[in-house]
Amino acid sequence: MTRFLGPLLACLALWIALPLQAHAELDVVRLKAAIASSFETDYPKLDALYKDIHAHPEIAFQEEKTAAKLAAEMRTIGFEVTEHVGKTGLVAIYRNGDGPTIMVRTELDALPMEEKTGLPYASRDKTVWEGKETFVAHSCGHDIHMASWVGAAKTLVALKDRWKGTLMFIAQPAEEIGAGALAMIYNGLFTRFPKPDFAFGLHDGPFPHGYVNYRVGIGSSSSDGLAIKFKGRGGHGASPQYTADPIMMAARFIVDVQSVISREKDPTEFGVISIGAIHAGTAPNIIPDDALMLGTIRTFKPEVRAKMLAGIERTARAVAAMADAPAPEIMITEGAKPVINDPAVVATAEKVLKVAFGDKFRLAPPVTASEDFSEYGVPSMFFNIGVYDMERFIAAQNKGGPPLPANHSPEFAPVPKPTIETGVTAMTLAVLSAFDQRAPGQ
Ligand SMILES: [Zn+2]
Ligand SMILES: [Zn+2]
Repeated sequence: MTRFLGPLLACLALWIALPLQAHAELDVVRLKAAIASSFETDYPKLDALYKDIHAHPEIAFQEEKTAAKLAAEMRTIGFEVTEHVGKTGLVAIYRNGDGPTIMVRTELDALPMEEKTGLPYASRDKTVWEGKETFVAHSCGHDIHMASWVGAAKTLVALKDRWKGTLMFIAQPAEEIGAGALAMIYNGLFTRFPKPDFAFGLHDGPFPHGYVNYRVGIGSSSSDGLAIKFKGRGGHGASPQYTADPIMMAARFIVDVQSVISREKDPTEFGVISIGAIHAGTAPNIIPDDALMLGTIRTFKPEVRAKMLAGIERTARAVAAMADAPAPEIMITEGAKPVINDPAVVATAEKVLKVAFGDKFRLAPPVTASEDFSEYGVPSMFFNIGVYDMERFIAAQNKGGPPLPANHSPEFAPVPKPTIETGVTAMTLAVLSAFDQRAPGQ
């Protein structure tokens, strides 16, 4: 702590000495320099934390050790920590006078897959997932988010003379299965703890480090699960005239349902349906009784979602009717809603982050993936930070260049220091901007 606070306080002394009416741009520039200086001093500890978490990942709702490591870090900084909120989640509170409550969220979970980065701190850990042994890897970069979250907490506490209010840092389990945010909410996140005025979250992605992408309004897709069971009449593969073939129905559905996307939905609106699993049959010459298909439906807007769900159901029923088979069983499971970036929260953060990052703070289109950050229902901003060296990014853009591994690739390998520095800096400044708009006497 002392090592961390020294240079920061030295820089802050200079910054705080500025007259209150000093130009905002100058404040942000100096503040960013102060954050950079403290980050440089403190980075070895954050690096060790990051590499430890990276080497020992845990999947959804198994994040006991990961959560314990974060709880210890936050207690050292001075937060009041409550563990096991939503199974493995934790809530860390830091009160600093009257003012708004601002929530900062990280995820805790990794993925059930093998890491193939070849990094010295690569994970070789395994666990049991749905009854089977599997490797575990932080291939979505949630370990970067955790290190940035701890770094931002340290920085904000060191800067506590500059804001009034309450920091509510939460570490959420099970983002990858879209269940952790709701688990925390159902376990009293907003009743046992303050309901935040604003919230911030970040995610890393395959673009150059030092860059911050953001959006106003819709930031990610809604996610609905689809399960359809086509019910046929089994029999011999050589005598299909005595059967109703559910595999034929499934095949026809997969092709025909894409006309819902291309012919029914407005082509300028986003909507996707993908079938990821088909389970049917046992042998080449037996037509089975039924076929089960599992898929995912993604949209940005409720009206597009409603149109797609209606079209999907109609197509499934029509396919069964064509085969003179019973009506299929159709189950649609509502998942995450789109993340909406609140225009007022973004506008306030934008002023600060534009000064701090210049051209590297960029408006970007929404991502078609989904995020359960949307479940919190707090005016918020969710932004993305890049993870790769610029040279590697440019090489990948060239025709035939080496591809850039994205999130969920076994080769996804962020460059830790500059990526975490961007996360810490952007998150600290975003939170400070939100305190500034509400804190009394600021
Ligand atoms: Zn992911
Ligand atoms: Zn993720």
